[in-house]
Amino acid sequence: MVDNHQKTCTHCLRPAVYLDRVREIHLCREHLMAFVEGQVLAHLEKTNLPPVIGIAFSGGKDSTALLKAFCRIHNDLPCSFLAMTVDEGIEGYRQDTIRAAEEICRVLGVPHHIIRFQDVFGHSLDQLVAGSERNACTICGILRRRALEILARRLEIRVIATGHNQDDHAQTAIMNAISGDEKKIFSGFAESDWYARRIKPFARVSEREVTLYAILNGLFHDLPECPYAVSSLRGEVRTLLYRYELKHPGSMRNAARCEEEIRQRLGGSFTRNPYQACVSCGWPGSGRVCQVCKVLNDTWTGEDKADHI
Ligand code: SF4
Repeated sequence: MVDNHQKTCTHCLRPAVYLDRVREIHLCREHLMAFVEGQVLAHLEKTNLPPVIGIAFSGGKDSTALLKAFCRIHNDLPCSFLAMTVDEGIEGYRQDTIRAAEEICRVLGVPHHIIRFQDVFGHSLDQLVAGSERNACTICGILRRRALEILARRLEIRVIATGHNQDDHAQTAIMNAISGDEKKIFSGFAESDWYARRIKPFARVSEREVTLYAILNGLFHDLPECPYAVSSLRGEVRTLLYRYELKHPGSMRNAARCEEEIRQRLGGSFTRNPYQACVSCGWPGSGRVCQVCKVLNDTWTGEDKADHI
């Protein structure tokens, strides 16, 4: 963000609100909004979409910005949409964000559906994490993916848009590299008719741009942070990458695009085993027992590689 009194938009004479340090241009409010919405539209236009898609809506900044972008460009969209929220059951955090999500959907007039860990798995995330050695985010990711799939099936949703932005992709690229998880890069995520397809309309929009978009739309609220966030590897990688991006603008974008390029060129180099039905719950997974059942039966180990993002 820049000194508004000194800079004007590169495209017009209005005051600038944003400095794109990679492209070395200044953008005013209108052009920043147009850029973000243009990226979303371009992503959707190159994707084959059904008449209705779901937006994974946590109530946080990124998914709120995505929902708003969908609403602002809805006349140009090739599909209609609804919002889907997972309540993991995290005391002191989720109640506030769920309330915020409900309020935003009410104001925007978007149909909103919520699914709760407690209802589908019989336990909240807090209960599953209590006394466990396992990483909360790993458990959360595995179960959240399943909960979202269950909700999607109930609503007959076959495509889910998520608010992952370019920075998230860069973090994932580095995390895959430092954890030596080459299969995730080279095989991508397994496709299955069973699971809803995921799309990421913010894949080419940076976190700063998404944040500013939310602020300019009056949607940035000071919500509590998940108490488990500090324990994640992603949190550490995020901090490191931000420091690096400050010194070397463009690093984040390069890391994200590099992995995207590798996936496009070499995706499929590793052949995934075909999905097989879990002997316990019947959902398709990569082994005899799916990861959700392993988590719920407390038999998941670090050797099990998660299929979730
Ligand atoms: Fe779940 Fe981790 Fe995100 Fe908290 S920070 S919501 S535990 S993935």
